[in-house]
Amino acid sequence: MRTDRRKFVKQSSFLLAAVLYPGKTIYSMFNPFAHSGLKDISQNFGVYTEKGGTIGWYITEDVFVVIDSQFPDTAKHFIDEIKNKTNRKIDILFNTHHHGDHTAGNYYLKQFAGKIVAQENCVTLQKKFYGEGENKDKQVYAGTTFKDEWETDLGTEKLKAYHFGPAHTLGDAVYHFQNANVVHMGDVVFNRAYPYMDRPAGATAEGSIKYLESCIDHFDKDTKFIYGHAANDDLITGNIDDLKLMRDYFSALLEFVSNEIKSGKSLEEIQKNESVPGFENLTERWKGAKNMNLKAAYEELNNS
Ligand SMILES: [Zn+2]
Repeated sequence: MRTDRRKFVKQSSFLLAAVLYPGKTIYSMFNPFAHSGLKDISQNFGVYTEKGGTIGWYITEDVFVVIDSQFPDTAKHFIDEIKNKTNRKIDILFNTHHHGDHTAGNYYLKQFAGKIVAQENCVTLQKKFYGEGENKDKQVYAGTTFKDEWETDLGTEKLKAYHFGPAHTLGDAVYHFQNANVVHMGDVVFNRAYPYMDRPAGATAEGSIKYLESCIDHFDKDTKFIYGHAANDDLITGNIDDLKLMRDYFSALLEFVSNEIKSGKSLEEIQKNESVPGFENLTERWKGAKNMNLKAAYEELNNS
């Protein structure tokens, strides 16, 4: 009962935050699962989930790499747990995009991190959306940025970063560990869940489709993918079929809303639909996710 109540209070406050601060505190709405901590996904790779975007990590005797940082408090929990696996400092911390649930924890991790790497627009957007106001002094930005591609040797592993254009934001990057064939997708995939479509940060369905197409071309059926968010903890990792499904969802969303507009429906009428046809089983990670997607597609199609 206590847990249920806590969960309820938590969810209510997230919704309140969403209503009071649309856009700027979106990360506070992603209260994914009860604390689930570290999970190994293969010999040297794993994920950490607690609150916000999935942290990915890679550890060998010579290298410790982290992708995304959640929040200062959960980044500390991550470090407390990962200490059992390595004594190293973080050689490189990567950010997949600027959203607070992926970058706010930079503030805590910076003391352990040799350098922070991100796509150049990630830093621009982080400054734009969080560089003023209450969180201003707690922003830590990537000091190394790239435009389209970036690569580095990690001992026996080789990492390549890609930016394929605007998708979930204007500054998304995916990180490919080439030998192990593991990719962190950031929020370009919300696996089996309605994606967060941050129009002010440049999110479009069209851009997401193109971006996912590029990923599908670059990676293969053996690639193991890590996702920023998913319908549940078991779906945080997956394979290329998840990327195809996400791409097909964005296509179906655009086609459906386009047909609804053609039949003369208003946005409010379109939002009365309970789902996008063919994607009835997507999970709403926060209340209003489905309607946000319909609205984003509506605005995208109307160029508004
Ligand atoms: Zn995001």
